[in-house]
Amino acid sequence: MSRVYNFSAGPAVLPEPVLKEVAEEMMDYGGTGMSVMEMSHRSAAFQQIIDEAEQDLRDLMNIPDNYKVLFLQGGASQQFAMIPMNLMKNKVADYIVTGQWAKKAYQEAQKYGKANKIATSEDETFSYIPDCSDLPISPDADYVYICENNTIYGTKFKELPDTKGKTLVADVSSCFLSEPVDVEKYGIIYGGVQKNIGPAGMVIVIIREDLITEDVLPGTPTMLTYKTHSDAASLYNTPNAYCIYVCGKVFKWLKSMGGLEEMKKRNEEKAKILYDFLDSSKMFKGTVVPKDRSLMNVPFVTGDKDLDAKFVKEATAAGLVNLKGHRSVGGMRASIYNAMPKEGVEALVAFMKKFEEENA
Ligand SMILES: *Cc1c(COP(=O)(O)O)cnc(C)c1O
Repeated sequence: MSRVYNFSAGPAVLPEPVLKEVAEEMMDYGGTGMSVMEMSHRSAAFQQIIDEAEQDLRDLMNIPDNYKVLFLQGGASQQFAMIPMNLMKNKVADYIVTGQWAKKAYQEAQKYGKANKIATSEDETFSYIPDCSDLPISPDADYVYICENNTIYGTKFKELPDTKGKTLVADVSSCFLSEPVDVEKYGIIYGGVQKNIGPAGMVIVIIREDLITEDVLPGTPTMLTYKTHSDAASLYNTPNAYCIYVCGKVFKWLKSMGGLEEMKKRNEEKAKILYDFLDSSKMFKGTVVPKDRSLMNVPFVTGDKDLDAKFVKEATAAGLVNLKGHRSVGGMRASIYNAMPKEGVEALVAFMKKFEEENA
C-alpha cells in the first residue's frame, strides 16, 4: 500500500486513522456482524451512530439548542434551490457573488424570486472579497447569501458581511470545521461534506428553528422542505447512512485532536508554510489578495502555462497529486484541508523549491 499526498479540492483527503477504523469495522460493525452499509437505518445501532454524530458536531461547533442539524442528500448543490424554496417568503434575496459556487446559488435563486447581486468580485476573476461593511441590502430581503470560503478561487470572508439585521445564509463547504464559528450569526450554515469532512453526496444543514416552517413556496417537493427532515430527525427516508457514519468518525477524530481551536492553529501553521514560500518565490505566485487568502484552498501560478503543466506532471510523479488548478483559474491549486498533515505541505514546498531551482 502506498498513500500519496492528495491535494484535491474535493472529494478530498480523509484522516488516516478514520480510514483505518472504517476498514477494520467493514465486516463487523460493533458486534452486529454486518457493515454499516448493510444496516437498516431504523436499527438501534444506526440510531446510535447518527445521534452521536449529531452530538459530536454540536459539541465541536458549540451549536445552540435552537438550531437543528440536518443530514441531507443532494450535496451542497441541492441547497441552491432548497434555500430559496424554503426561505423566500417575500420572494427577495440578496446574494454576494464571490465565485462559481455563489454564482450558481444566485442563478438558481432567480428561478424562485428576485435574487439581487449586491456585491461581486467577478471583475478581478474573484481574487478578492468585496467590502461588505455597507451593502445595499434590500429592505424586504428574506436573507443575505454568501459562500464563505471560495474553493476554486481560494478566498475567504475574514469578516462576515453586515446584513443590516437580515438572516445570513452561508455555504461553508470548503471551510467546514476548519476553525471555530459563532453559529448564532447565521440563520443557515451549510456545507457539502466531501471537502473537509467525509465522502461525497451529503450536505449538513445547521438551521435556526424559526426558519423551519410549512410556509414554503408552492410546489416545493416534500423532500426539499426543511420541515420534513427536521420533523423526522434526518430519517424521513433512507439517509446516506454510510456517509453519516464516516462523518461521525471524523467528528470524533477532530475532538481527539483538540477541537476547532486546535484545528485553526494547525491550519494557520500549514497555510503559512505555503504562503510564505509563494511570497518569497520568483517563479510561483499566489493569485489572491493576501488579506483574503483562504486557509484551505491555495491557488498559484508560474505565469507560464507550459511550466504549470510540467510542474503538475512532475509533482504527480513525486506523489503530490491533484494539484492542477480549476479550469477557470488555470495554474495550480493545493487544497490543504484538516486531514492534510503538515508533512504534506512541507513536502509540497520542498518540491516547489527544487522545481524552481531546476527550471530557473
Ligand atoms: C464543492 C462545493 C459545492 C458543491 O458541492 P456538491 O456536494 O458537489 O454539490 C458547493 N459549494 C462549495 C463552496 C463547494 O466547494
